[in-house]
This record gives sequence, C-alpha cells and structure tokens, in this order.
Amino acid sequence: MLPKTMRINNKNHLEFGGCDLVEIAEKYGTPLYVMDESMIRENCRSYLQALKSHYQGKGEIAYAAKAFLTLAMARLVQEEGLGMDVVSGGELFCALKAGFDPSRLFFHGNNKSKEELISGLKAGVGRFVVDSFSELDALSVLAQEMKTTAHILLRVKPGIEAHTHEYIKTGQEDSKFGFGLERDGVLAAVKKALTMKGIALKGLHCHIGSQILDPTPFAPTAAIMMELLQRIREVFGIVLEDLDLGGGMGIRYEKEDEPVPIKEFVALVSQAVQQEAKKYNYPLPRLILEPGRSIVGEAGITLYRVGVIKNIPGIRKYVSVDGGMMDNIRPALYRAKYSAVLANRAREEATEVVTIAGKACESGDILIKDIALPPLKEGDLLAVLSTGGYNHAMASNYNLNPRPPVVFLKEGDDNLVVRRETYEDLIRRDIMP
Ligand code: PLP
Repeated sequence: MLPKTMRINNKNHLEFGGCDLVEIAEKYGTPLYVMDESMIRENCRSYLQALKSHYQGKGEIAYAAKAFLTLAMARLVQEEGLGMDVVSGGELFCALKAGFDPSRLFFHGNNKSKEELISGLKAGVGRFVVDSFSELDALSVLAQEMKTTAHILLRVKPGIEAHTHEYIKTGQEDSKFGFGLERDGVLAAVKKALTMKGIALKGLHCHIGSQILDPTPFAPTAAIMMELLQRIREVFGIVLEDLDLGGGMGIRYEKEDEPVPIKEFVALVSQAVQQEAKKYNYPLPRLILEPGRSIVGEAGITLYRVGVIKNIPGIRKYVSVDGGMMDNIRPALYRAKYSAVLANRAREEATEVVTIAGKACESGDILIKDIALPPLKEGDLLAVLSTGGYNHAMASNYNLNPRPPVVFLKEGDDNLVVRRETYEDLIRRDIMP
C-alpha cells in the first residue's frame, strides 16, 4: 500500500518524491513531516479537471486549509487555481500573508469572533459561511458599519449520517454546525438574511463528515440541498447561485481502505446535482467542493527514529519513537488507524507484530497498535504513511516537545517549508513576573 511515488532504491532505502528518506532524515532530523509536492499538485489538478469534465467547470474547488496549512501550501493552492476554505482568523491571516486572493476564500466557523468577522470583511473574503442567527446579526451590523457587503452562504445540516467516526461526522441533526431543515431553521435564516442590510445571500453550504470512503451519502445530500434551493425559490422567489457540498472524501490509511478516485467522486456528486437541478428545472448552481484530506493526506508521511524497545513476553512488544500524539493526535483522539514501513531496510520482511508508542507521558499515546514490521532496532527509521492531513495542523507542544519541521519533496529536490520549533520558541510567550 505504498503511496504512488514511493519506491525502494538500490540502497534498500525508501524513496519518496524522488528523495532518499534516510538522507532526508539525516539532513533535517526526526520526527519530520515530509510531503510530496507533486502529489499534492496532481490531486488539485484531478479535482479541477473532474469539475471541468463533469460539471462544465461551473464552480470552485476550495481546498480545506484545516487539513494542512502553511504559507507554502497556501501559495501552492493559489498556483494550482483552487479557492480555499479557512476557518479561523489565523488561517485567514496565513492565506493573506501568502498573497492568496481573498475573493476566493470561504470563511467558515461555528463561533467566529467579532475580530474574525471584521478581519474577513476588511480582507473582502469571497464568502462567509454563516452558521447561526447570531452570526447573521453580527455580520450585518459590522458590514454596515464598515460600509461593505458580506456575501454569504448559509450552512445547513442536511440530516445525513455519513459512515465515519462520530467526531468527524457533521451533517446529522444533532450537530453543533449550521441550521437545521426545520421551519425555524434554514428557511427562517433565509428570510432574515434577505431583509438584512449589509448581507447578500448567495447560496447554501453543507458538509456531512470526513474520511468518507463510501460516497453513497453524497447523492441524497445533493438531493436534499437541491430540494431546499427549490423550496427557497418557491417561498421567496429567489434563485441562489452557489451550492457548496463541503469536503469529506476519504483516503487510504490502511491496506483495507479503498477510497474512490477523485474523478469518480466528483462525477458522482456532479451527476447528482445535475439530475436534481433538471428535476426542478432549476438553473445549475455553481458547485463548490471543499476537499482537504484527499488533497494532502496520502502525500504526507512522518519519519520517526526508533528508540526504546520493550518486550513484555506473551503480552506485547512496545517500540517507542521520538514523536507521538504531539505530532499525530488522531489515534488518541478518535482511534484513527495508520500503517508504517521501515525506511532504512525497506525490503526486509515484516515478520514481527509490534506496537508503536509515542514518547508522550500518556498511556494512550500509541500511534499504531499491533502492526507487522521487520524486527526493529534502536536507530531504525520508521515512516508512518498518510499523515499529510490533520497531523501538522493538529500538532501540539504537549510535554513541551517542539513541533517537527515540514519538508516538501519534489522530484528529487527537498525544500524546508516549516522549520523545526526550538526550545526558545516554546517559552517565547511566557512571562516570568
Ligand atoms: N469543509 C468543512 C466545512 C469541514 O468541516 C471540513 C472538515 O471537517 C472540510 C471541508 C474538509 O474535509 P476533508 O478534509 O474530509 O475533505
């Protein structure tokens, strides 16, 4: 299940993005995030190409920055011609610093602060994705004060249950995100938005969850959202131009995972929307998709150095590495599964089942439970696969561990895009009274 651009070279080392990973680990140290830049670009292009082929290109692919965002990534996304979904003042700041076109930003968040709303208005973000009545009120007041207009989408909970982990499914009724389908939900929000000064209602948004491997729920989601657009046309006599169906497409973490190719996924969603638009004789809306994980996930790996090995006879062999839940919280947060390969003796057979433990002071800091690997020794280099999404983005300084750097690999070249945090960085904000 090695990623597309991973191979084993004649030194018996893993190669990724045309670079020898043993040499990369020596150059930058471990733990280390490495990302294959070409793979990220290819994924961006697949989305755009598919939207063009299956939906006449009428829409936007807005990369979900929450999956992985740095200045270099924002620039890459812009170069590839995608829009971007940002979900905090910090992500907005990073996008703007990278020179991202604000009119192609979608500003999300279920509890945006007044400062965040002001930053968005000042920057002129293309769309605010409004999540609540109080956000509508605040945005209208601020837009008027600032003599501008907020172009908005209303976030809807379409009542769809996606088959994914409870913490990453978001479209069901019992969710903190968005407006419900009931009368005092989204229709009341539309009614209110249409009368408000400083607000221009442009469309609807929904997002049913993340790491969705079975795309089936996207068709009923498209149907519910198109029915809602039609209902809004009937009740209020307006045709909304944008339909944003969020992100969520899953990736391969383990051998058994079988994600649908990007092109098939976009084709399925496009067909569903087109079919429903035809049913209601509704002008084809601009289709917006917000993929995050499926753009960066498989393009990233994390390199760790093997440290202490503890064998508890008849129970388990723990292999500790020099990172853990600080650089990858997902296994501890929602029992996410990962796979790994030995990078420095890459052809060796996987004959031993071990558990890969992190170095954090938590028993729950287990990166991979029971994985077959070649017999490991201290100093070996382990590559954990598919860590490009929601790893760097969710990293912490727990136990005051500095966060790892990020290196982009591209056809044999390596470029540092985030430097390693230092101990000095860790206390930079501290004040000793
Ligand atoms: N859009 C919204 C509103 C989200 O909440 C998320 C992630 O949770 C995404 C897009 C990106 O999802 P994914 O990375 O699964 O594609």
